[in-house]
Order: sequence, then structure tokens, then C-alpha cells
Amino acid sequence: MRLIAASLILLSLNTALAAQSYPWPNNARAAVSLSYDDALHSQLDNAIPTLNKYNLKGSFYLSLSSSAYKQRINEWQTIAMQGHELGNHTINHACSGAKANREWVSAGNDLDNIPLSKLINEIIEANKQLHQLDKQSHRTFTLPCGDAFANGKNYHEAIKHLFTGIKSRVGGIETSMTGFDIKNVSVIAPSNISGEQLISYVKRAANYGTMVNFTFHGIGGDHLSVSEDAHAKLVKFLADNSELYWVDTFRNISLHISNNQE
Ligand SMILES: [Zn+2]
Repeated sequence: MRLIAASLILLSLNTALAAQSYPWPNNARAAVSLSYDDALHSQLDNAIPTLNKYNLKGSFYLSLSSSAYKQRINEWQTIAMQGHELGNHTINHACSGAKANREWVSAGNDLDNIPLSKLINEIIEANKQLHQLDKQSHRTFTLPCGDAFANGKNYHEAIKHLFTGIKSRVGGIETSMTGFDIKNVSVIAPSNISGEQLISYVKRAANYGTMVNFTFHGIGGDHLSVSEDAHAKLVKFLADNSELYWVDTFRNISLHISNNQE
């Protein structure tokens, strides 16, 4: 009897949770941002064809010194014209060399040694170069490596006024949108994961009525890779369930949340 009562309470709790959804466009249950960091060849070669096949828009956070950016600048411009977002991921992708497993950080590109003003100027310069490509006035940003401090000073705080939205750290699914800070958004950074596992994240976000932010790197190649198959399964699932999931650029999702908070 007690078990039945407990089950009933759980059931009503679930129903209550499911009933409260953030006011997403078209009464969707969850917003989904598909982001891709670092400007990688496999994103243009493998992620873009899948997104275009299902007519979904992604956000591509470009490090402008990346070879795949410099060699294929016209293609990045083309995807912007297709409605995908070009985001700022700095020019040089400096990260803290002091953290664990950061042997790959070179002394000249160690965020712990880069003056705050120099980094801010680099980020402003990246915004200018991206604007030349896509003419967009709203820009979003992802922090390389999720590191917020340049030479001991908090650069994340110092650049907030330059951006419409900022993805700043690795976290999980948003369980509530109350007090949500669009300039300090946590992401899931999947690698070596199945399509079913990716889909389970978006289903959980729909249950909460919140949002899920994926930050991918390589798709079927490059580093921190997710297979083409797993990525395509997620994208197809989202397209097949478009009444439940609002998939859009992080720019558009950020603007929607900002307008809703006013
Ligand atoms: Zn990165």
C-alpha cells in the first residue's frame, strides 16, 4: 500500500514537472543548441551535410588561427549564408597550461601568461573578422577549454557586454530555467558516445521543459570525436520530433531567452 502511495506521489510529481515548460517557440518542450567548437575540417565535411539534410541550424565556434578556418574561409561564409551561426572562440585558442593534462599548451599561448587587455583585443578582433563574413550584429562566444582567467584576471566577466550569449563551462542538462544566466551557460561536450545516448540527453531536457547545449568537436574525425552515425541519429531524431524540440542557433535561443526575461 505504501509503495502504491509512493508511486502515485512520484507520478504526480513527474506530471507536475512535465507540465512546467519554459515558454519556447511553438510550445516546444525543450530548446536544443547544436554547437561545434574549434573550426575543424570534419565539421564542414561531416556535420554540415547532416544538418543541411534535415534543415537544422548549428552554431560553429571558430578559432580564427585554425588551419581549417584559414584554408576554407569561403565555406564558413557559405554556411553562415545557409543560416548556421559563426561564433567567436577567440583567434589563438589560449588555455591554461597549469591545469592537468595540458602539456599541449605552448608557453607562448598559455592563458596564464596572457595579459587581460591583449586577450580582450584578440576577442574584439575576432568579432570584427566574423562580422565581415556574416554581417551579424549579435555574436555569441564559447570559452576555450572553459578557462575564465587570463593572467589571473577574470576575462569572462570582462567580455560579457560584447556578446548575446556565452557558453562558459561543462555541466549537464538544465533542470530549471529559473535564474538562468544566458552569459554563463553550461554545456555537454560529448565524445565517443552513441546516438542513443545523445538522444537520451534531449529527452531528459524535454522532461524538464528546459534546454540542452551540446558542444561537439570532431564529427567522424579530428579530436574529441563523435561518429558520423551517432551525430546523424541525434539530428534525425530532432528533425523527426520537431514539435517537441526547438533546434536553433545559440544566437537565436539567447535572444529568445533575453527577450523573455525583459
Ligand atoms: Zn575549443
